[in-house]
Amino acid sequence: EGHLNPHYTFDTFIIGKGNQMAHAAALIVSEEPGKLYNPLFFYGGVGLGKTHLMQAIGNKLVADRPDAKVKYVTSEAFTNDFINAIQTNQTEEFRQEYRNVDILMVDDIQFFADKEATQEEFFHTFNDLYNDDKQIVLTSDRVPQEIPKLQDRLVSRFAWGLPVDITPPDLETRIAILQNKAEIDNLEIPSETINYIANQVDSNVRELEGVLSRVQAYSKLKGEPITTDLAYEALKGLKLETKSHQLSIVDIQSKVADYFHVSVNDLKGKKRLASIVMPRQIAMYLARELTNNSLPKIGKEFGGKDHTTVIHAYEKIAEKIKIDTDLRKEITDLKKGLG
Ligand code: ADP
Ligand code: MG
Repeated sequence: EGHLNPHYTFDTFIIGKGNQMAHAAALIVSEEPGKLYNPLFFYGGVGLGKTHLMQAIGNKLVADRPDAKVKYVTSEAFTNDFINAIQTNQTEEFRQEYRNVDILMVDDIQFFADKEATQEEFFHTFNDLYNDDKQIVLTSDRVPQEIPKLQDRLVSRFAWGLPVDITPPDLETRIAILQNKAEIDNLEIPSETINYIANQVDSNVRELEGVLSRVQAYSKLKGEPITTDLAYEALKGLKLETKSHQLSIVDIQSKVADYFHVSVNDLKGKKRLASIVMPRQIAMYLARELTNNSLPKIGKEFGGKDHTTVIHAYEKIAEKIKIDTDLRKEITDLKKGLG
């Protein structure tokens, strides 16, 4: 509870399309707390940098003004503190602690859902701070209106200031985050490999960091430098969070047909020409990798082929990818295009 992570600073935060508004607002608030955006409210999915950005505000305030009273808590910690205070007859101390601050940051307030008494207390905390022009910063995984059982008066107060969303990082941002990480950790990673890793995750910075540390650990274990081959080895078998929108086999077929200049009918047909067989196997491989369709279903979508044909295609490509850099690049390109 209550501790700022010293690494969560503006310096280490990479700005991209999905977070530039949130970043700009955070910076302004850190320079002039309680003035412009009160409360500042970040919302967005897990692992997108809400906590990082919120704590960056706190860290900057402490650095600029060592006497500033900065309080950071998760909504659970707030709730627990409050319950404790009631049980030990220390609600006055609780109020002192939460209302006698220059900035109060409460993380993940979606967990206030359902907690009537806590919401009541937080309502008064909020009003006190707000009336004193003290800064309030909040985060949640969704907009206030969508938090179940959150009192209307809180919902409306949360919208008084600036609600800003943070959306998942695009490819360029993911690459920049990885480059930055590599630099901080003193890692030598070829840019092609950074690119490869950035393409393996598309939703979440925390997961991106996880993938990088996995590659890093694998390189250490093998005593080999980080290359794309090594990254591939390290990450194969890892079931990464699939793309948010569900790809269909048809999407894959048309993309692959386009890419290799063959027709979708050829992919579904029986021609044994090498220039068609390879794209067909790649399309089946991707259908298996990127969708949740069963093997028989994939076979059916490829002109009524047997599921063993799909397995064969899948294994063939999976083996070949390991040794064939061109093929690996084609697959990466295709996946990128399908994302
Ligand atoms: P959230 O609170 O939205 O779930 P976090 O703030 O905990 O996400 O971020 C997850 C991880 O990703 C943290 O290690 C954080 O430092 C990192 N991270 C998120 N966004 C960025 C970014 N734009 N630049 C650098 N690191 C980031
Ligand atoms: Mg968080």
